[in-house]
This record gives sequence, C-alpha cells and structure tokens, in this order.
Amino acid sequence: MSGLDRITIVGASLAGLRAVQALRREGFEGDVTLVGAETHVPYNRPPLSKSVLRGDDDVTLPGAEELGDQWLRGRQAVHLDVRSRTVTLDDGAELGYDGLVIATGARPRQLDGVRRLRTIDDALALRAELESGHEHVVVIGGGFIGGEVASTARQLGRKVTLVDAAPYPMHAGLGEEASRWLAAHHERNGVELVSQARVTAVDGGLVLLSDGRSLAADLVVGGMGVVPNTEWLDGALAVNDGVLCEPTLFAQGTENIVAAGDLARWPHGLFGGEMVRVEHWSNANEQGAVAAHNLLAGPENAQPFLEVPNFATHVHGARIQTAGLPHLADSASIVTGSPEEDRFAVAFTRDGVLVGAVAVNSPKELIKLKRAITARETAARDA
Ligand SMILES: Cc1cc2nc3c(=O)[nH]c(=O)nc-3n(C[C@H](O)[C@H](O)[C@H](O)COP(=O)(O)OP(=O)(O)OC[C@H]3O[C@@H](n4cnc5c(N)ncnc54)[C@H](O)[C@@H]3O)c2cc1C
Repeated sequence: MSGLDRITIVGASLAGLRAVQALRREGFEGDVTLVGAETHVPYNRPPLSKSVLRGDDDVTLPGAEELGDQWLRGRQAVHLDVRSRTVTLDDGAELGYDGLVIATGARPRQLDGVRRLRTIDDALALRAELESGHEHVVVIGGGFIGGEVASTARQLGRKVTLVDAAPYPMHAGLGEEASRWLAAHHERNGVELVSQARVTAVDGGLVLLSDGRSLAADLVVGGMGVVPNTEWLDGALAVNDGVLCEPTLFAQGTENIVAAGDLARWPHGLFGGEMVRVEHWSNANEQGAVAAHNLLAGPENAQPFLEVPNFATHVHGARIQTAGLPHLADSASIVTGSPEEDRFAVAFTRDGVLVGAVAVNSPKELIKLKRAITARETAARDA
C-alpha cells in the first residue's frame, strides 16, 4: 500500500478525528500520532452556541471514545519543517512523520472586552455570564454564531442588540431575500438590529460604533468570523487565508501532506475550480476522511474532494439551511414557498447553472436543490 510508516495528525477535533478513523478503517498499520492543543477529548462544536448555552452539556462527538489515551493532548504544534519531515511542539518535542494531516481549524477574530465562542470552555463561561442576569446583551456579528447566540439570549429573557456590518444578517451567505427575511425574523423575536455598522472598540460597558454611535451593554459577545490556525506553517507551506491545496486536499507542492476542515482551501471542481474554504461541520467531517484516504493512496491515485458544502442553523425556532455557494451566483429566485409564510427556498444560479440554495423551514427542498447542484443542473427548477 502507501509506503508510509508514520502518520502525524495535527489538530484533534472533527477533521483530525475523522482522519484517524479513516486510517484505521483503511487498514493502515503504521504509527498514527494525533496531537491537539485542547485538553478535552474531541467534541462537537455546533451545540456550543445552541443547547450548551441553554444548560445541556452534551457535546459528544461519535467516534471520539475510540481514541482512548493514544493521543497527545494539550500540546500545540509551533513549527513544520517539510525537508526533515518534523513537526515541533510547544514543549520542544519533535514529531517525525512520513505523512502529515493538517487539521488545526480556525479561531474567532477577537476584540478586547468581547466574549468569544469557539471552545467548550468559552461556551461554559458565556453560559455562566448569561445566567448571571446580565440585562442587555450586545452581539457583534450577524453570522450563524451571532444569530444563534442572539436567539438563545432572547430565550433566556435577555434584551439583545445585534450589530452587523451588512445591510441584513448573513447577507453574503443567504442572499437578499433570505437575509431580509432573517432580519425581520430577528426583529419579530425581540432582537434590536443595528445594521451597516462596525464596532471599533468596547470600552467599559460601551460598544463604540464606526459611525460615532455607542451602545450600553452588560455583556458583549462576538461572532466576527474566524481566522485559520496556520501560523505554525509559515515558511513551510503555501498559505493564504488557509492552507492552499490541490483539488485532492494535498497541500500545494507536497506529496505527503494533506489538509482538512476549516483551514483547507482548495479549488472546488463543481464550481469551476473556485478556491473555497468552508467553515462548516459536514465539510470537516467528510474532508478528514477523504484527506486521510488520499494520503494513503498518494497524489497519483487521489480523488478530488467534490462534496457540495452544506450547513444548517436554528434561529428563534426557524431552520435555515444552505447548500453550495450562493455568493457565487449572478441570479437568484424563490422556487417554493414565500418569506411571508416563513417557509421558502431560493435557488442561486451562475450563467444559468445552479450553484447554491437556501431553504427556510424547507428541508426537503434543500435536499432536492443540493442534489441538483451536485448534478450541475442548468436551470433553477421548482424544487
Ligand atoms: C459555536 C459554534 C457553533 C457551530 N455551529 C455549527 C453548525 O450549526 N453547523 C455547522 O455546519 N458548523 C458549525 N460550526 C462549525 C464547525 O464546528 C466547524 O466547521 C468544525 O469544528 C471544524 O472542524 P476542524 O476539525 O476543521 O477544526 P476545529 O474544530 O477548529 O479544530 C481544530 C483543533 O485544532 C487545535 N489546534 C489549533 N492550532 C493547533 C496547533 N498549532 N497545534 C495543535 N492543535 C491545534 C484546536 O485547538 C482545535 O481543537 C460551529 C462552530 C462553533 C465554534
């Protein structure tokens, strides 16, 4: 088979775990070393902004129990040397490898005085703050994490203001119709929206906006996007807003290094080779396995990663799903339902080819549209 004896996987979360499992499933008999900066057993992040904030601590990631103690936790990779094939850890230890899987994910953008939400520790700290009776919560960023935190804080009876730079929350990812609907949905559920505004600083309970306004806040939570954790690869690999990969997830210019999950950026074959980086659960879940498979197969026999990105979020009881890459579209149309009914689906096309879909409370339509995107159908049909 691969001729690889030692495989090192850096990043012990979803993509890293799925890579370990794939190596075992495919009968790899050499040494596997998994190393991760967190001290926790790999866990599921989506509940962190949903059920965990409401008091349910279950973040079990199926398969994590298989790791046992056979991995290095609480250790961070600080340097990669591709010539000597070594990863240096923060305690000075050096891990040699024949094959390397990079799965160090991403971290939130930060601002002083703003609570972040990425880890279980972040979520428990935020929950304690929310439970401690803070009256007015200001959420910065209307993306899915900001929207879910706003929704949960409302459920807990807090006054919530959501500040977002776009005209409507999730505007880039959902397009005009669905983001406009989402804005109204937030407002109907008691969230005050401050749109087209940037937060410049948080100063002693005051959130300062770029237009000169300020908002008083008891608690400020950020959902301002993420930055890929690639600093430890500087100088070793091609990095530009993520690890630049081939269609097969091999890091550019390498034959024994693959990347997977939130930090992998690759040309997606279903979207004209558009370079994409996807920060969603199903992507990390599938890429971890495919990257490991390809590492064993070698660059010559590797398969391109062609999964259609998809994602779901729950905001004030509504289910919002996306598939494909709606932001690439030059045209969008509602293909079923209507915003007035709080149930609709939007098809997004580029040059007549379906490239994306958004569904609000319409899971079946989303499945149909996702299939059509995979099949590269050329017209937005009734879903
Ligand atoms: C609050 C929250 C809610 C979410 N909700 C959803 C949702 O509803 N739907 C959805 O599709 N997606 C959701 N996501 C996104 C999803 O969880 C991520 O896409 C997924 O976790 C990515 O997995 P990953 O393995 O690539 O990276 P990560 O989960 O970011 O894991 C990377 C790991 O690598 C470690 N690491 C970083 N640097 C180093 C280093 N130098 N050395 C060693 N280890 C390192 C990190 O500590 C981390 O444990 C959510 C994310 C968050 C934070």
